[in-house]
Amino acid sequence: MKLLFEKSKPGTGNQYIPACDTPEYALDASFLREEEAALPEISENDLSRHYSALEKRSYGVNDGFYPLGSCTMKYNPKINEAAAALEGFTDIHPLQPADTVSGCRKVLDMTKQYLCTITGMDAMTLAPAAGAHGEFTGMMLIRKYHEMRGDMKRRKVIVPDSSHGTNPATGTMNGMKVVSIPSTPEGYVDLEKLRQAVDDETAGLMLTNPNTLGLFDRNICEITKIVHEAGGLCYYDGANMNPIMGIVRPGDMGFDCIHLNLHKTFSTPHGGGGPGAGAVGCKQFLAEYLPWDLEETENSCGKVRSYHGSFLVIVKALAYILSLGKEGIPASAAASVLNANYFKALLSEKYTMANPGFCMHEFVMTLEKEHKEHGFSALDIAKGLLDNGIHPPTMYFPLIVHEALMAEPTETESRQTLEEAAKIFLDLYDEAMKDPESMQHRPQSTVIGRPDEVLAARKPVLRWKKEEKDEG
Ligand SMILES: *Cc1c(COP(=O)(O)O)cnc(C)c1O
Repeated sequence: MKLLFEKSKPGTGNQYIPACDTPEYALDASFLREEEAALPEISENDLSRHYSALEKRSYGVNDGFYPLGSCTMKYNPKINEAAAALEGFTDIHPLQPADTVSGCRKVLDMTKQYLCTITGMDAMTLAPAAGAHGEFTGMMLIRKYHEMRGDMKRRKVIVPDSSHGTNPATGTMNGMKVVSIPSTPEGYVDLEKLRQAVDDETAGLMLTNPNTLGLFDRNICEITKIVHEAGGLCYYDGANMNPIMGIVRPGDMGFDCIHLNLHKTFSTPHGGGGPGAGAVGCKQFLAEYLPWDLEETENSCGKVRSYHGSFLVIVKALAYILSLGKEGIPASAAASVLNANYFKALLSEKYTMANPGFCMHEFVMTLEKEHKEHGFSALDIAKGLLDNGIHPPTMYFPLIVHEALMAEPTETESRQTLEEAAKIFLDLYDEAMKDPESMQHRPQSTVIGRPDEVLAARKPVLRWKKEEKDEG
């Protein structure tokens, strides 16, 4: 597909802006370009077609099954969009006098209050723009807490080896030393290893429960106690809140601070459909360190994002919370667990599970044996799924499982969809066993086939360069 720059033809652009009828203002020459900006010139019709064509090349939850583990790609109810499109929410400015936007402020307050209730926290900020941004903010609170107490040597953050990559990254970005502790063979936190790891330099522990293997750690209260007794705080990565919302609360498990991915658990759009939102909650004793939005507060950890965060996203999350209600939230969590276990049981006919038995909202398969003995990989299966109109599960994560495929069907898929998808997974498995070589040529039906992943990672081409095109 050609880029707009390549489609550009001088003189084809639509000129809508009328000539200026007010006195011209001359900008200082130092602010002016020396050359005209190289903007593409294209008619509105062709521009519109360009974006429609791009849209058809992407795949989202509205296109089909999307069991991307850890990412909770659930259906985003359209009523969220209707609520966020209301004029009272769209036609405002963040610096408007407070008494002219009292409804919008109420939306923020209500959302904070409901999220506090769901998580067992006392205070909340809606400012961070993503999960990773929320983690970073949350760990800033923990760092600030130790600093305010003059406990400057607490700079160690403990993360289990099953943790999401953003956890160690967050610790490091906060100037901490990250200590990874191995999990037990069953995939849980090793209490002995944790006891050995904590000391008077421990700032805290970062953990998600259920963890990235989809397992709920029943020792959770013991885990947070060990960290607290050593003087550290406990940070909850709330990306896996989906199977437990309305059922158990991180605040009751002993966590001091958490983030939530509103774009995962609370049905607001992900990625390109975003923006995201990574609400951060904390217990009362950390509340004074929360970031500020409009006015600077004395002990705050600082400002992490302009104004109040992704406001319209927050409206969507609130619409979701209100439409599910007190009964719907735990029911939805339970359905996500039921769906995951049903899907897991169907796939277990052929696929080896990293952890047999019941799971929470997601589970991890391993193709280690198939890779060694039959020569096809998790990547091959993922590519094959693309030919069948399914977005593949998360691949090669968590890192402790070899040839991992991590699937999370979510509660919004019907039984029929799960059964149809399972059949595709199982048929593909048979095909790969019969002819592993053929899997190397998957996918066949997508616009882009099989890119060179190493080259793409090492030498990514992120920008169109005019010169190269001129050279032909
Ligand atoms: C998605 C995810 C994150 C990061 O969230 P983003 O919104 O993608 O930045 C952190 N931890 C876990 C376990 C996740 O699944």
